Amino acid sequence: MTAEIISVGTELLLGEVVNTDAQYISRCLADLGIDCYFVTAVGDNKSRLRQTVRTALERSDLVILSGGLGPTSDDITKAAVCEEMGLETYLDERQIERIAAHFKRQNKEMTENNRAQAILPVGCTVFDNDWGTACGFGYEKGGKHIILLPGPPRELQPMVDNCLLPYLKKLSGDVLVTHDVNIFGIGESKIAEMLGDITSSENPTVALYCGDGEVRARVAAKAETEKEADEICKPMMDKICDILGKNVYGVDAESLQKTVVTMLNKAKKSVSTAESCTGGLVAKRITAVSGSSEVFELGVVSYSGRIKNEVLGVDNQVIAKLGTVSGPVARMMAEGVRQKANADFGIATTGVAGSSFEGKPTGLVFVALSDGEKVFMRRLNLGRSSNEREYIRHIASSHALDMLRLYLCGDDEFLGGGMTDEEADKNYEV
Ligand code: ATP
Ligand code: MG
Repeated sequence: MTAEIISVGTELLLGEVVNTDAQYISRCLADLGIDCYFVTAVGDNKSRLRQTVRTALERSDLVILSGGLGPTSDDITKAAVCEEMGLETYLDERQIERIAAHFKRQNKEMTENNRAQAILPVGCTVFDNDWGTACGFGYEKGGKHIILLPGPPRELQPMVDNCLLPYLKKLSGDVLVTHDVNIFGIGESKIAEMLGDITSSENPTVALYCGDGEVRARVAAKAETEKEADEICKPMMDKICDILGKNVYGVDAESLQKTVVTMLNKAKKSVSTAESCTGGLVAKRITAVSGSSEVFELGVVSYSGRIKNEVLGVDNQVIAKLGTVSGPVARMMAEGVRQKANADFGIATTGVAGSSFEGKPTGLVFVALSDGEKVFMRRLNLGRSSNEREYIRHIASSHALDMLRLYLCGDDEFLGGGMTDEEADKNYEV
């Protein structure tokens, strides 16, 4: 089955709104193993929209439209599709009731033009909208399927999850199961090379998705039952985990921080953070996980040298000699905050996220982890330009979390081994 997406709305053509609806739908199609060959954006103009729908129906089996289902005169999607396909319509009483209830909940008056939103093609499968007034629908004619979804992402996304997905799953007959292998610390091209011809496997398929410095290997299998599909996925996931080893931080994991907090909870260990260039991001990510209060008590954002010294006990002479962006400073920050909180671990970041500083290049970051006896360190050269501040901060915070994860896995080798103070100082001077 081949699919295409038509996003309706003049605001998309003017660059006022980013087409996140198409992105969301595309991802859903990819997950289902349905090939999507075209994504078109078209303005709120009936004849151009009809023309776009005509072309789409000629070349694709499944056409999904988003936007223009509202009650106002510029919302023309449904009329354009019904006219183009010659569909008979009816007024759906159940939708009238749902829309009326929606207004009642909000203490608002239902207007006459909202009734038009309950006009639907005879024989369609209605998609209820729990977040707004416009319902969506799916319709089949001559082996072609057309789907209409509302434009606002907060309405479209639950409708895709709750209505479109089951509708499409039913079409294909097979059940599709997907699992993610979550990876940190190696890039997409390296992973592709390591996995070799695994990525061209057909059932299950393996696709790599990257974002925020992480990669997900998505394993998807089709079978008659969920259990069978799961069984097809399992050996492939094991194989990927085997090949990528400690770079895999989870399977179907919610996030790196969630993995770390769960591990800390299990080990009954606590961590505190001392951050410079990441400005509290490591602490933010840890505390975003429920259950983090058991493992986290203190996070310091020590942006200046003075605070690094006064609050964390970083030696002023070291700062004077090496600057604040240096391995020894990271080490002292990590141990300083660990002691302050009486925690099991202290992690610290210090680096250059903006334009070069202390004669050090943008993207140079030291991340240190102290367990009270040993200090582990990463010296990162994220090597980006200064306008990628957020990228640098995010990746640095991920490395901090990743170091703790590897420590808790008992993986000294991956961490570069523990270092004595002298070793840390020697190896990580700039
Ligand atoms: P409404 O009932 O709000 O009018 P609608 O189904 O008619 O909903 P539109 O009028 O096309 O949808 O769009 C409403 C809003 O939804 C837009 O202003 C925009 O903010 C958002 N939106 C529409 N299409 C998209 C899209 N493709 N991607 C992201 N956001 C979108
Ligand atoms: Mg609208």
